Amino acid sequence: MSNPSLLILAGDGIGPEVMDQVKRIIGWFGYKRDMSFDVSEDLVGGAAYDKHGVPLHDDTMAKAQEVDAVLLGAVGGPAYDDLDFSVKPERGLLRLRKEMDLFANLRPAQCFDALADFSSLKKELVTGLDIMIVRELTSGVYFGEPRGIHIEDNMRVGINTQRYTEAEIERGARAAFEMAMKRGKKLCSMEKANVMESGILWRDVVTEVHADYPEVELSHMYADNGAMQLVRAPKQFDVIYTDNLFGDILSDCAAMLTGSLGMLPSASLGSPMANGRPKAMYEPVHGSAPDITGQEKANPIACILSFAMALRYSFDLGDEATRLEAAIETVLANGARTGDLMGPEGGTPLSTSQMGDVILEALDASIL
Ligand code: NAD
Repeated sequence: MSNPSLLILAGDGIGPEVMDQVKRIIGWFGYKRDMSFDVSEDLVGGAAYDKHGVPLHDDTMAKAQEVDAVLLGAVGGPAYDDLDFSVKPERGLLRLRKEMDLFANLRPAQCFDALADFSSLKKELVTGLDIMIVRELTSGVYFGEPRGIHIEDNMRVGINTQRYTEAEIERGARAAFEMAMKRGKKLCSMEKANVMESGILWRDVVTEVHADYPEVELSHMYADNGAMQLVRAPKQFDVIYTDNLFGDILSDCAAMLTGSLGMLPSASLGSPMANGRPKAMYEPVHGSAPDITGQEKANPIACILSFAMALRYSFDLGDEATRLEAAIETVLANGARTGDLMGPEGGTPLSTSQMGDVILEALDASIL
């Protein structure tokens, strides 16, 4: 059988810096675990614009459609802020998501014990926290028609339309139930069925899909209550399934329960390909961080954890993903910190590559 294939799009700013550490980790799995990946690299965002005049070349898009997984660093930066909207770096990212039809966005909110003090919540509320938010990514109010700003009775009116087909709700629900099956077998679906018809349909369809996953405990919650519960008692949740708009807000809210942007991975999954693997793109939640670019200050962990998600969700290497996550847990417990993770007590932060070094050492220790 051929090796799993991975397309690396490091992008702009700190993207290439954090991705360098991921490449070392991929190399480690090759040398030490005999797991080889067919890795190719290409340009996205401003880097692609500089070379091709577009933020994603057609050839790169075609490659992304063929590989088992895409791993993206970050796009954007001040040099590209004044570009026409159609060629802004973010358009490259959006094109990938759209043309790969990545409809399920997975945003874990996991609190590493050593970083519990970074949360905005009390330590006991977040210690051991491990939530997965599955956000529908390709439909809903961000895409629904009609939309726009119109003049009615001499007054401007802003219009966006929340529109969901049952097929769109269902495929995301299946992704969420599958996720719950691999985790704690608990799924909470969030909508506003009390005031929105799309919410009523959402609740009905999720309930129907539940019939195929009887082992999963399903609950429903209004999204506003969900937001309250996330900051009141977040550990009550395992997997949350919600729409594009609520998911955008709730996943950012959940992310802050865990501390730094430099720690947050994500995945976006689509339909299964011929080999049974879902179309997939993995990327840290953070952006290109121009304020620290080129200074070896970036925390590579979000990008490394994104690769761990690829191991688990694209390559069926859940044990190796756990090994990598455990190595990160170990180095954090031992006090390894990049600048973004320094507490008020201070100390000397590790550089990006020094953080890579200690994670590789912990991986070595894991196979002794
Ligand atoms: P950002 O995420 O790049 O940075 C926000 C803050 O967090 C900065 O102070 C930065 O130094 C810090 N930070 C981010 N990642 C870090 C890491 N790994 N280690 C340590 N510190 C980290 O968001 P921004 O400043 O609003 O945006 C900068 C650029 O990135 C913009 O051009 C924006 O459009 C783009 N952006 C891209 C993505 C993406 O590629 N997915 C996401 C968000 C923003």
